[in-house]
Amino acid sequence: MPQRPDKHDPLTIGFQTQAVHAGNDVDTGSGAIRRPIVMANSYALPDDPSTVSWSGTDVPLYTRNTGANQLALQTKLAALEGGEDAVVLASGVAALHAIFFTYLRTGDHVVVGDVTYEATWRLFAELLPEKYGIEATFVDTSDIAAVKKAVQRNTKLIHVEAIANPTTKVTDIAAVSAIAHAAGALLSVDSTFTPPPLYRPLADGADLVVHSLTKYINGHGDAMGGVVVGSRDLIQPIKSDAMVDVGGVISPFNAWLITRGSVTLPLRLARHLESAALIARFLDEDPRIAFVSYPGLPSHPQHEVALRQFGGRGFGAMMAFAVKGDPETQNTFVANLRVITSAVSLGHDESLIVHVGTGGPRVAYYPEEFRTWGHLRFSIGLEDPEDLIKDLDAALTATVGSRE
Ligand SMILES: *Cc1c(COP(=O)(O)O)cnc(C)c1O
Repeated sequence: MPQRPDKHDPLTIGFQTQAVHAGNDVDTGSGAIRRPIVMANSYALPDDPSTVSWSGTDVPLYTRNTGANQLALQTKLAALEGGEDAVVLASGVAALHAIFFTYLRTGDHVVVGDVTYEATWRLFAELLPEKYGIEATFVDTSDIAAVKKAVQRNTKLIHVEAIANPTTKVTDIAAVSAIAHAAGALLSVDSTFTPPPLYRPLADGADLVVHSLTKYINGHGDAMGGVVVGSRDLIQPIKSDAMVDVGGVISPFNAWLITRGSVTLPLRLARHLESAALIARFLDEDPRIAFVSYPGLPSHPQHEVALRQFGGRGFGAMMAFAVKGDPETQNTFVANLRVITSAVSLGHDESLIVHVGTGGPRVAYYPEEFRTWGHLRFSIGLEDPEDLIKDLDAALTATVGSRE
């Protein structure tokens, strides 16, 4: 007899079914089949509260400890990432800081990807060394021998991005996790560019997975949040240290919005991935384009790693490219776009582009073409891909002339 599917048992259901049902339940108060938004700071205490743990995080008590909407979102994201537990916080950066704050102390050493989100770079290049004496080595994580060499006796953590923001460098997570574990260190992976079901780093040996929920998982560009997913033993200290005692708590309203947004994650992601592949090919074949960096292109230096690691499901929907010309050309090109929006952030329903430029201390770590031409970080949205391609083509024609 075929096994009967049970919406609360992830082993019997598919990813889309989980995306619909995980963390949702009938509201016992109203009978509503959608979990309501609970905008309350406090929850009723039992008749005898003397046994309540004032720093507990499992039973709603005070919204900085946990609340109904945080619990629902945590349950859902743990299920979607295939982890035991999750902690949701106010932003992706709050989630990153929560890991570093909980698991690092003075004298510890961290190996960090040389290309990461800007705030991660600043935390390890400036704030954590200067304020707390935490040492970091920045390393090209696509070079496994270099990662191994960077590990020291006091290395407690390796932190990488599965696909790095903004250059799209891909890291072999299974290989790096073997190095981390041989050294007795934890591996945390920022998987913001590769949300599930595209990739689940825990299956490749990551100990902690971080997402900026602000991006694909909410997907609608209207709420900020962050999550860390991992084993119960690793997540619990993050909840009590970084959530209860540091207080980077997410608002119940944002937790509710992100829970709702995440229902369509697999559907949206399929469109993001399909459109990105089309657009990468269009840009790659256009002689007016200086370079395109996208892991789905055979010319990408880690194309083979990406193909294996993401199981042929796709290569994300973020790319970097430049128009042949100087920085002013990039600005003119962006100004000539009529569908694609010039703004920071990514993973939204609308396509977003930002001219990152050639300046700043981190650019030294970027591939040479990024330093020569500058680059545009491009987040492919959910619009008709034909419209996006027409928009790019028309803006190129208006900026540097028609394709020949
Ligand atoms: C945006 C982003 C973050 C930070 O998330 P916020 O929600 O903006 O705090 C972290 N990592 C990556 C890869 C990101 O793209």
